[in-house]
Amino acid sequence: MILSLENQVALVTGASSGLGYACAEGLARAGASVVVNYHRQAEPAEELVEKIRAAGGQAIAVKGDVSKEADVDALFSQTIAEFGRLDILVANSGLQKDAPSIEMTLEDWNTVIDVNLTGQFLCARAALRQFRKQNHDTQISRAAGKIIHMSSVHQRIPWAGHVNYAASKGGVDLLMQTLAQEVGEERIRVNGIAPGAIATAINEDTTQGEAGKELLKLIPYGRIGDAEDVANAVVWLASDLSDYVHGTTLFIDGGMSLYPGFRDNG
Ligand code: NAD
Repeated sequence: MILSLENQVALVTGASSGLGYACAEGLARAGASVVVNYHRQAEPAEELVEKIRAAGGQAIAVKGDVSKEADVDALFSQTIAEFGRLDILVANSGLQKDAPSIEMTLEDWNTVIDVNLTGQFLCARAALRQFRKQNHDTQISRAAGKIIHMSSVHQRIPWAGHVNYAASKGGVDLLMQTLAQEVGEERIRVNGIAPGAIATAINEDTTQGEAGKELLKLIPYGRIGDAEDVANAVVWLASDLSDYVHGTTLFIDGGMSLYPGFRDNG
């Protein structure tokens, strides 16, 4: 079996930067038509669309805030208006608003939960509604639809000073598992990706310079990840090569979730 997403349509949220950008690019390279959702940065989203088109692919950029129901509805309507169907959702948008728990404002708690958890629910719900409506051609994809939730190693590893973020990603894990349990019978596959430390805008302060060297102590594989490490896994999870993978989270973390603190603790 070869890895191909020809004749499939993928929507990637938060695709104007970082992991979303790399995922959208990777999915397009594998043959999918891609909807590049962005929140505020139109320019990099449009650049990505041009890049995909220049390479012979199909893409559009669509603005939308994933935490707003009306924006999510509009995002999916524009996807269907342009490409007629949806096969793959990568619910990737996310942000951090860090503070010690005792000082965290309700506003910062709510913003992170709204985008990282409610946003993933709203997008997954819209995708499921669309998957149910459209015909399933098993020659094109063995699954009737694929949802990939971008989680984090912090769905498992507690993270002092980031209680809103860790709680949102813990929520994403059970959101993903529950949806998978609910819709598997319809041949809709739902999975998660848990990246470790991948150098993007979200963590510039911890992956560069001296902080970056400290961070390496937490990564048994000995390097900080690239966006492409995650994109490659997303493309595989979206393809028929992973057809029996359902309701699970793939950790793309160079071993960060292996409790590396115990290495030197014999
Ligand atoms: P990033 O900041 O480059 O990307 C986040 C994207 O989400 C941005 O494009 C941003 O515009 C978008 N976004 C934010 N609020 C939004 C909203 N309301 N509506 C729509 N889009 C919105 O950082 P990234 O590292 O690429 O993060 C992507 C995802 O990966 C996030 O869910 C993040 O939690 C997760 N993640 C990243 C790492 C890492 O090490 N980089 C590790 C674990 C998990």
